[in-house]
Amino acid sequence: MKEHLLKILIIGDGNVGKSSFVCRYVSGQFSRTYKMTVGVDFSVKTLHWSDKEKVRVQLWDVAGQERFISMTRVYYKGAMGCVLMFDVTNSSSFLKCRQWKQDLDSKAMLPNGSSIPCILLANKSDLSDWAVPADGIESFCKANGFFTWMATSVKDNKNIDEAMRKLVEEILSS
Ligand code: GDP
Repeated sequence: MKEHLLKILIIGDGNVGKSSFVCRYVSGQFSRTYKMTVGVDFSVKTLHWSDKEKVRVQLWDVAGQERFISMTRVYYKGAMGCVLMFDVTNSSSFLKCRQWKQDLDSKAMLPNGSSIPCILLANKSDLSDWAVPADGIESFCKANGFFTWMATSVKDNKNIDEAMRKLVEEILSS
C-alpha cells in the first residue's frame, strides 16, 4: 500500500466559509457557530484512493489570520495544493482572490519550480443574491492559473468532496 501525505492550504478572505469547509469535509458536519481562532490549524482526512493507494489529506486553515493576506512562509512550506475560496454574495472577497493567488505563487512552489495546483471555490452558492457572475469567475480562473473552479455550498454539502477529489487528482498527476 502506497501512502501519500498531501499538505493542502485553504486560503481566502474571512467569513467566506473556510473553517466550515474543513469541518464539513473532515467530519461531515456544518457548524453554525461562529469561530474566530487565531493561528494556524490543520485537520487530517484519510482517503482510500485505490486498491494500492491511500491519501492522507492535511488541510491547513488560515484561521483568523486572513486580514494579513500575506501569510508566513511556514504556512506555505511544503504545500502541494491549495483551495482558494470566496463568497459569491461578497464581490470584495472575489476581487481579493488575485492578491491571494499572487501571494501563494510567490511563496509556494513545487520542487520543480512550477506553481502548486490551486482550485477556485465559489462558496455559498445556495444563496440567491450572487454578486459575482459565473462568466466573470470563469475568465478570472483561466487568466490566473487555476486548473478549474467550482460552485460549492458547505451549507448544503454541495461539491465539497468533489472539489477535494479534483484537487487530489490534479496533485497526484502533477
Ligand atoms: P471563514 O472565516 O472563512 O473560516 O468562514 P466560516 O467557516 O467561519 O463561515 C462564515 C459564515 O458563513 C458562517 O456563519 C457559516 O455558517 C457561513 N457559511 C459557510 N459556508 C456557507 C454556505 O455554503 N452557505 C451559507 N449560506 N453560509 C455558509
